[in-house]
Amino acid sequence: MRARGLRAQLGGAALAALATLAACVPSTGQELEMGNAYAQQIEQQLPMVREPEVDRYINLLGDSIARVVDERGLTWRFTVVDQPEVNAFAVPGGHIYINRGLIEKTVTMSELAGVLGHEIAHVTRRHSVNQMVKAQRANVGLTGLCLFVPSACQGVAGAGVELIAQGAFAKFSRDDETEADRFGVQYVTRAGIDPRGVPSMFRILMAERERNPSGVEAFFASHPVEESRVEDTEALVAQMDPAVLASLTRTTPAYQAFKRRLASLPRTPSKGR
Ligand SMILES: [Zn+2]
Repeated sequence: MRARGLRAQLGGAALAALATLAACVPSTGQELEMGNAYAQQIEQQLPMVREPEVDRYINLLGDSIARVVDERGLTWRFTVVDQPEVNAFAVPGGHIYINRGLIEKTVTMSELAGVLGHEIAHVTRRHSVNQMVKAQRANVGLTGLCLFVPSACQGVAGAGVELIAQGAFAKFSRDDETEADRFGVQYVTRAGIDPRGVPSMFRILMAERERNPSGVEAFFASHPVEESRVEDTEALVAQMDPAVLASLTRTTPAYQAFKRRLASLPRTPSKGR
């Protein structure tokens, strides 16, 4: 769906209704409504891995982190996208998407958990919902208006997928990224998982960028990774008690089984390639 179509859909009546909205800080209820609408669109348009074992594991791992850190009691949903590119993204309200290509690059459970912790932080710290407000305003050209009403949501939701496809959806600010890294490290630690997986994953991604730049393009577009992010997260880990670090889980047989199961599944053919 193109922006022009969206403008047409947001006709005079909707615009008038929107114009009457004064408050522009979305409530959790509005965030859920909007996030769920986006998630529905995304799942209709991107290929998803719908395999019970894979689905079960990624949700177990994701929930093990989210349930100890989420103060709003959101219902979290973790889904593997059947795409070979390295990417992950968070939709407001608690929908986290992780590309198959990213999972395949992880070597330990703690690296996958680090990515999940980072994406969870984009939701708990409300980066995702704030970004969505900005993206919608830019896309629909309704600067200054809130689009968190059901009637507008319907038409606008389609824009989310396009924005994701363009890598424009989740271009978080450097501050948001730094904060998501910091909280990601804290979150996995609180869940009993070794936070060294966070810098370790950055190193894997940086090595992959050298080897196959196009495969990690989307991830780097939304999550610029530089040496400083590796150093910053390593510095956070260095402040931790070595005895505590040693007690945390780095990898598990269940993670290895999950990766083997995923590797055994046929791939969704890429469109247009
Ligand atoms: Zn991020």
